[in-house]
Amino acid sequence: YDDRDGKIWMDGKLVEWREANVHILTHALHYASSVFEGERCYSGKIFKGHEHSLRLIESARLLDMQSPYTAEEIDAAKEAVLNANGFKDAYVRAVMWRGSGEDMGVSARRNPVRMAVAAWEWGSYYGEAKWQGAKLDIAKWKRPSPETIPTAAKAAGLYMICTMSKHAAEEKGCSDALFMDWEGYVAEATGANIFFVKDDEVHTPLADRFLNGITRQTIIQMLKDNGTAVHERRIKPEELDSFQECFLTGTAAEVTPVGQIGDWHFQVGDTTRKIAADYEKLVRA
Ligand code: PMP
Repeated sequence: YDDRDGKIWMDGKLVEWREANVHILTHALHYASSVFEGERCYSGKIFKGHEHSLRLIESARLLDMQSPYTAEEIDAAKEAVLNANGFKDAYVRAVMWRGSGEDMGVSARRNPVRMAVAAWEWGSYYGEAKWQGAKLDIAKWKRPSPETIPTAAKAAGLYMICTMSKHAAEEKGCSDALFMDWEGYVAEATGANIFFVKDDEVHTPLADRFLNGITRQTIIQMLKDNGTAVHERRIKPEELDSFQECFLTGTAAEVTPVGQIGDWHFQVGDTTRKIAADYEKLVRA
């Protein structure tokens, strides 16, 4: 991805894609002092772009980093990147991190907080699996407690076990891994939230211990507006048997049906199909 044409916004200005580099002594590279956003632009407009800018600033705050930019300035940076690259339908990646400072210790209060925005054309996150129903492995690692790490932040450090779990899943022929939390309840996938359907009602884990996705919140609101009951609650893995349908939600994943989790099977049913279609309509509205 490094060596290509295009523009990336970095610390306040557009630079050539292949010149958007950081120094090897970047604090974030050593200590995971980095937060980011994943957003999608549909027909020239980023879906919930401003919410993503606010979440980026909040993630930074949770990591003790003061954003050098306001949400409006971040919105403008994203706009500039999309225009400079001529993208109408694209994935947008904003990232904010601690740069290098006077020394290379853990403490980094004087290291500058830096920011970049890149965008690229990115189709369906789960590829073919999207319509057949994705197959999920159960991750060996657990989502950590909010007393261990700021779980509400979209922070690089929270993704270390995501990459490891996704690699393990892919080696078994699965599209993704499903995490339980440290107490053993169903949590989320490596880059998406999870929902279940039982008798036309929807169940999803309470998002008080992992990223409360912007897509997740959108879907819950959409369902409630349609008169569908949504239960946000603790879900035990033993319960997976009792659900008829399952789907993932996320900016990249959008609404992706799940066909299998470990040995549990789900149908790609009408409720999931309708939610996926309604979401597709909404993001392009
Ligand atoms: N959980 C994790 C771990 C994620 O990386 C994502 C994607 N950002 C989500 C959930 C879904 O969040 P959103 O709907 O805001 O993209």
